Amino acid sequence: MQTTDLLMEYIENSPSPYHAVHSAAALLEDAGFTRLEECAPWTLEGGRGYYTTRNQSSLIAFRLPEGAPEGWRLAAAHSDSPTFHVKNDALEGDSRYIRLSVEGYGGMNCASWLDRPLTVAGRAIVRTGEGVEGRLVYLDQDLLTIPSLAIHQQRDVNRGHDYNAQKDMQPLYALSGGTPLTALVAEELGVEAGDILSTDLMLCPRQRPVYLGPEGELFQAPRIDDLGCAYAALEGFLTAGGSRRFGQIYCLFDNEEVGSGTRQGALSTFLPDVLARIGEVLGLSAQDARRALANSLLLSADNGHAVHPNFPEKADPANRVYPNGGVVVKVAASQKYTTTGLTAGLFQAICRKAEVPVQVFANRADEPGGSTLGNLLGRQVSIPMVDIGMAQLAMHAAVETAGSRDPEYLARACAALYQAEFTLTADGIYRF
Ligand code: ZN
Repeated sequence: MQTTDLLMEYIENSPSPYHAVHSAAALLEDAGFTRLEECAPWTLEGGRGYYTTRNQSSLIAFRLPEGAPEGWRLAAAHSDSPTFHVKNDALEGDSRYIRLSVEGYGGMNCASWLDRPLTVAGRAIVRTGEGVEGRLVYLDQDLLTIPSLAIHQQRDVNRGHDYNAQKDMQPLYALSGGTPLTALVAEELGVEAGDILSTDLMLCPRQRPVYLGPEGELFQAPRIDDLGCAYAALEGFLTAGGSRRFGQIYCLFDNEEVGSGTRQGALSTFLPDVLARIGEVLGLSAQDARRALANSLLLSADNGHAVHPNFPEKADPANRVYPNGGVVVKVAASQKYTTTGLTAGLFQAICRKAEVPVQVFANRADEPGGSTLGNLLGRQVSIPMVDIGMAQLAMHAAVETAGSRDPEYLARACAALYQAEFTLTADGIYRF
């Protein structure tokens, strides 16, 4: 369970996408990776590792082989989770209460956000002596709650409720006279409140990750979707070590929960920009760069739905995945998942060699199912991909549950991919 212990630490250190990127960057720095800025010229050396970030909320890390890369081994996960964004410290009050004004980010389970301690995390844009600077903010205190309406005042609440984000989901911040949020943020950052020019703040549940079950076989935490994959893929990337022939890339994209179509999302040019710069610095010809892309495999890592103990009929009868059942391969005829028979087969071969269990997920034929970042990333860079993840319960609830052994399985599968020596010799044919 060592991977899960470390994942729990990563989740605690990552209450927002900005923190998720910062925590990943700290692990990369510890492993000797060099930070590159998109706005600065890059000098790259074979055999070394680098990373760059965009909007402080997406990150791409890569390790180069000694010579020209014959192909790429990649994994991508997302840094964001459904939450509520604070609308620029606009406080809403009546004579006795002060509420923060928030709007929904992504498709969350509203009921799960009620009646629990919450706080605020993200970033503040601060005026400095030299200019402006985005600084990470986490108010480490039980600060807010979204109180439910008492059952006496809505007798039918247990028969379902239509949640309205504007009406039901505004968090109670203070009784009148409380310190304004911007003042708390300024105090946390050690700056004057007047120097905070703007913010990207969001709510986060205060619950710490915990193990559940007599043997601790499950764990529960906020943001398992998708920090579970974000951490496990990074651990695999770091433990794999370098490859003699292949370049290795780890991607963490923001904004998956709102469609990925931002400057830092999977649908942006972030990954193609990084690949183009690497190619240019290494002096790869356009043909070599394209050959390398063809000879690549990307794991699009995002969680799938485990069979629900109370609603087993929601899962397809034939393609059922369970916690601790191993890495989930996701397939969909709609191609919302990028998995093809060929990429699934290649991934299965890699996992079999590494002795990592694999289970296959498909939606019921009468359920449309979700989408993820892989097929959107594929519009920018045409790399063979497979959609994978961990089996979890309560996806998009404020607190989610998954199997304690699965993070390690996923980390080992990613490490095996990063070390994999396959070569595409003709369309549809791989040789090891
Ligand atoms: Zn996800």
